Amino acid sequence: MSTTYTGPLPVPTPESRPFWDAAKQHRLSLPYCESCKRSFFYPRPFCPFCFGEDVSWRDSCGRGTLITFVINHRPPRSFPNQDPLVIGIVELAEGPRLMSQIVGVEPSPDHVVCDMPVEVVFDDVTAEVTLPKFRPTNRATPL
Ligand SMILES: [Zn+2]
Repeated sequence: MSTTYTGPLPVPTPESRPFWDAAKQHRLSLPYCESCKRSFFYPRPFCPFCFGEDVSWRDSCGRGTLITFVINHRPPRSFPNQDPLVIGIVELAEGPRLMSQIVGVEPSPDHVVCDMPVEVVFDDVTAEVTLPKFRPTNRATPL
């Protein structure tokens, strides 16, 4: 765990609290509609597909595909690490897409590519907050 992280931290809302609580336990959890049996993201108290309000939470397998990305060579000043930051949109195996940091790869278009298989990793940035991030996974590993 990093004891020196001074960057921005998420502020959980009543809707997103289960997501952050799960992340702290190193689980990637997604809202799930019990009516139409679909996971969705971002968290909200109703299903964006059928507007059903019977929403529970289910763990994701944590694997997905990098849909698109940007390599930010000038991260916002509030970020403690001034190395290039790779921010991507990941489509999870369960369907939802989320934005996250891509780690464990050279921050270069030679190494970060669209459609790259990725898997979640958990960064315990403070005692209270864990940030889910994604890293490339072995292409031989089935989704
Ligand atoms: Zn639904």
